Formats: sequence, structure tokens, C-alpha cells
Amino acid sequence: MNRTIELVKTIYEIKQLEDVDEPQIALAGRSNVGKSSLVNRLAGRKKLAKISSKPGKTRSLNYYRVNPDGYYIVDLPGYGYAKCSKTEREKWAKLIEAYIRDNRQLKAVAVLLDSRLTPQKIDMELTSYLAKLGIPIIPILTKSDKPKQRERAKLQNQWKDILQQDKLPLCFSSKTGMGESKLWDIFTDYAID
Ligand code: GDP
Repeated sequence: MNRTIELVKTIYEIKQLEDVDEPQIALAGRSNVGKSSLVNRLAGRKKLAKISSKPGKTRSLNYYRVNPDGYYIVDLPGYGYAKCSKTEREKWAKLIEAYIRDNRQLKAVAVLLDSRLTPQKIDMELTSYLAKLGIPIIPILTKSDKPKQRERAKLQNQWKDILQQDKLPLCFSSKTGMGESKLWDIFTDYAID
């Protein structure tokens, strides 16, 4: 299918949050996990989402409309940036909570996990928070072109156990396109019922 995605809205504060009637899939992950690169890959464009050399720079919530399907991919600000102040971290948590809670059109959260790292506490905190709220989690191992196949498989199994899911997380690479068409299929399944 000839899909396009376009940035339709960017917000920075809770007071700017509005209900969106269309189904949404949110993207979450630690700073530098490869979230902007993934958005750009899906968009087939190099610079739609800013690829930051300085992690922790993006503090906004970006709404991308997927055409012609009509649902939204909502890019949440990256978390876990070490140099970020406590106030900033709290601000992040509040904005995300406000977005996630009571959002009946939020169909799933794609949680981006760095394929080069063992499961990180901060990622598990997010996934258990989502699980508690009953929000489906789409785990994605980013930068999957980097680790050896065996390492990747091991990590996939670790995350499968942690998340208690039937399927293995998706291996994705913005560099090679690994997992891209599968990711679209998964998004479509959640967003369009
Ligand atoms: P964000 O902070 O989560 O938006 O991360 P970025 O998309 O800005 O990526 C962080 C760094 O990881 C950049 O240097 C990217 O070039 C690199 N990166 C992102 N995705 C991939 C990938 O699939 N493969 C490889 N090898 N590097 C990647």
C-alpha cells in the first residue's frame, strides 16, 4: 500500500492536550533508542522527525497522521536521559500520564527497546505501568542491524518472558529496513478493528 505519514500537531504541555477521535498508536522509548529514525523510516523521509545528536532534546508529543488509513502515530518524548533534571523528568511523566490515561482511542503503545542492551529497569517500569492500565504493548528491538543474530534472539526471548507475551518482540532496523513491513501490519491490526 502506498502509505504516507504527515506531522499534523505538536504539543509541549498538558494544557495543550485535546481528545483525538481517531485511533492512536503511541511510540515510547528512552532517549537515543532510535525513535526519530524509526519515524523517518516509516515516513520514507530523512528529516521528518529530528534525529538528535544530543539525546533528550525532544520534549514534545508529535501527532502523525497515517494516510490513507486515518489513524495516528503519536511520538512521545524520549525518557531516561541521565542529564535531565528531576523537575524535567516529573514533567515528562505527568505529560505522558495525562496523554495515556483515559485515552480510549489509544490502541497500543509501541515500546522501543535498544537491541544492544540487556533489559533496562526504566523500560520495565514503563511496560509494567502500561500492563497495569491494560494497554497493549508492542515491543520493538531497535538498531537490530547491530547485534549478532544469537544475541538478538536471546534478548527477544528475555523480553518475551518479561512481558509475558506469546510472540517475540519485533526486530527493527531503520538502517536496513528490517521489520518495517511487519511493523506496519502490527500497527494496522491494532489501529483498525
Ligand atoms: P531518538 O533519540 O530515540 O530519536 O534516537 P535517534 O533516532 O535520534 O537515533 C539515535 C542514534 O542511533 C543516531 O545516531 C542514529 O543514527 C542511531 N540509530 C537509530 N536507528 C538505528 C538503526 O536502526 N541502526 C543503527 N545502526 N543505528 C541507528
